[in-house]
Amino acid sequence: MPIHATHPHTGETITTSVAGAAFVIAPRYGESYSFDRSGRLLGLFTNGRSYQRTLDNRLLERNARGKTRRRLPPHEHHALLEHVFERLSDLAQVTSQADLDPDDRHALASALALILAFGPDRLAEDGAIFRTLYKPVSILPPDQYLALVLQATEGCSWNRCTFCGLYHDRDFHIHSPESFRDHCTRVRDFFGDGLSLRRGIFLADANALVIPQARLIALLDIAQEFFHLHDRPRPVFSFVSAFDVERKSADDWAQIHALGLERAYIGLETGDDDLLHFLNKPGSVQDAIDAVHALRAGGVSVGVIVMAGIGGEYFAEPHVERSVEAIQAMQLGPNDMVFLSKYVPVPGTAYPRQADAAGILPLSAEEIEDQLHILQASVRAIAPGIRVAPYRVEGFAL
Ligand code: SF4
Repeated sequence: MPIHATHPHTGETITTSVAGAAFVIAPRYGESYSFDRSGRLLGLFTNGRSYQRTLDNRLLERNARGKTRRRLPPHEHHALLEHVFERLSDLAQVTSQADLDPDDRHALASALALILAFGPDRLAEDGAIFRTLYKPVSILPPDQYLALVLQATEGCSWNRCTFCGLYHDRDFHIHSPESFRDHCTRVRDFFGDGLSLRRGIFLADANALVIPQARLIALLDIAQEFFHLHDRPRPVFSFVSAFDVERKSADDWAQIHALGLERAYIGLETGDDDLLHFLNKPGSVQDAIDAVHALRAGGVSVGVIVMAGIGGEYFAEPHVERSVEAIQAMQLGPNDMVFLSKYVPVPGTAYPRQADAAGILPLSAEEIEDQLHILQASVRAIAPGIRVAPYRVEGFAL
């Protein structure tokens, strides 16, 4: 329940919520800050603008649709944090005089003590520690933004799709049980009480489920040893390449499901084999359909990602038609999801050059938006009850 109080000097309404997985403090109308339970600032809203504080300590201004407008330069970053912590210090000073129930006063004072101990200098140190814990987390599915990321692998085992530059900065590498245990120890120590906000585990990077079965089981055992919930494994989520799913049987998937794996996310991108081939994605559309069946037979639900706009004008019709057919053939269930992303050219990737050389005209932003709506409506028509959600690749930040 939110706690309401009146500021004893200014008369402004103070609203706070400190009993859940996060602390939310609104020191006056139109301004609010959120923190995890260790007191780490996560985001704020002030002067009509929203900001995300990333775990590596950048402040990103977001627009109303959650897109990043800009990263605050150092002087604005500093000034904004100073403003926030001045307000919080003032709040800590007046808490004893505010019209509060004694239990609420105690809860608010305890939360403010944690938050104030996590001031601008410590946030900067915290961000520096975060950067030593992880290789940059390039992307997460939109329903996993609050996951606890564990990097069982680094990079992508394929790394050659022509439109994708997410992991060009690193070689593929699978953690040994020893190095993964060390990673888990450091991640646990970093998040502290802030872990309560992190729902499931996201096993990163791009294709962690490609790890050979015995090693994957060893790594999941370690992850659950550190982060299990009271009486059961913490749910685990991960990307998998359709092409790699066939390396494991339905029994293998059932074994991994028993260790927490709830959903695997597959980048189908398109249901058209010619376009898939043009994108240099490994495997075929049938591989992706078979992969979904194998995962679901093992009790693992799926998130299938289709990309609007890829393949330009030339592929537009078969791309939409065959993507919908592929999703229909997957026979998705109520726990499965379909995500629709929009193609955005990535500097340093081969696709724009190759498409140009092949005479493939790109779709305009409006045409991509139209294609996305057609895909959305068609998937909803053939798979009623399946959740269809947008998938944002641009501007992702943890
Ligand atoms: S799209 Fe997926 S499989 Fe292809 S290179 Fe990127 S991360 Fe790897």
